[in-house]
Amino acid sequence: MPLRRLVSLFAVVCFLTSLSAFAAPGVDPEWTTPQKPFRIAGNLYYVGSRDLASYLITTPDGDILINANLPSSPPQIRASVEALGFRWKNIKILLNSHAHFDHTGGSAQILRETGAKFMVMDSDVKLVESGGAIDFDHLHTYPPAHVDRILHDGDTVRLGGTVLTAHKTPGHTRGCTTWTMQVKSRSGRTLNVVIVGGVAALSDYRLVATPGHPASYPGIAQDFKHTFATLRALPCDIFLGAHGSYFNLQEKLAKLPIEGPSVWIDPAGYRRFINESQQDFEQDLKAQEQKAKIKSM
Ligand SMILES: [Zn+2]
Ligand SMILES: [Zn+2]
Repeated sequence: MPLRRLVSLFAVVCFLTSLSAFAAPGVDPEWTTPQKPFRIAGNLYYVGSRDLASYLITTPDGDILINANLPSSPPQIRASVEALGFRWKNIKILLNSHAHFDHTGGSAQILRETGAKFMVMDSDVKLVESGGAIDFDHLHTYPPAHVDRILHDGDTVRLGGTVLTAHKTPGHTRGCTTWTMQVKSRSGRTLNVVIVGGVAALSDYRLVATPGHPASYPGIAQDFKHTFATLRALPCDIFLGAHGSYFNLQEKLAKLPIEGPSVWIDPAGYRRFINESQQDFEQDLKAQEQKAKIKSM
């Protein structure tokens, strides 16, 4: 789904769910609907919900989890981990895509239950430790979590022979992180995995400063441009992301019984996603620049 539509869908979902006394405000039902867990390739597994992605990477020295998701998600993630035959307490390291409530909200609970170490990109650390309270976009808050290791762009996380690399892809949050790793296919081929952290400028992000109205944060537009350049430079066979909708998770799952695990290999989808996301960003930027020009006339 093009990102612009996704962002407007997000706004509609926020509005509709705010009308319902039964749904948490701003939470897409797809974020909480269970998804049967599955192996993607090698030691990489999907343990998230239908749309909120969470990844388990298993190693002989313990496991790594990427994304604790909503504050309500940990029991669902735990059920998925255990359904695959792995142990919850075997999670030694918790990572995240970015410090919004839908990807980091369950962190404090998972850290408490597993004793894992939390490793977070430098510019998202304060946001995580404030439980989302200092967010420039004022999204939902969540239980604050202590960060054990501060990551910087290009840092690696190593456990039991697996190496994950943290790429700083800021804009959506200051420390938004895209993770890469390599896995072996069944035939022994080495595949490059990219887990995109987030690329959307949400509807009320201010990319351009105008008198009396500063940008969401200084340098946000530059950060987005840097992020698209970074993503473009990453080699990608298996395209994944913080939301299933980034990489058409449900469409790929529907094809899986016929096409097999090769459905996850999608370098063309990755390029398309970057192109569409960048187009959306540039349109937003242009519109905001024009508005700023009219205001300053
Ligand atoms: Zn977000
Ligand atoms: Zn999100």
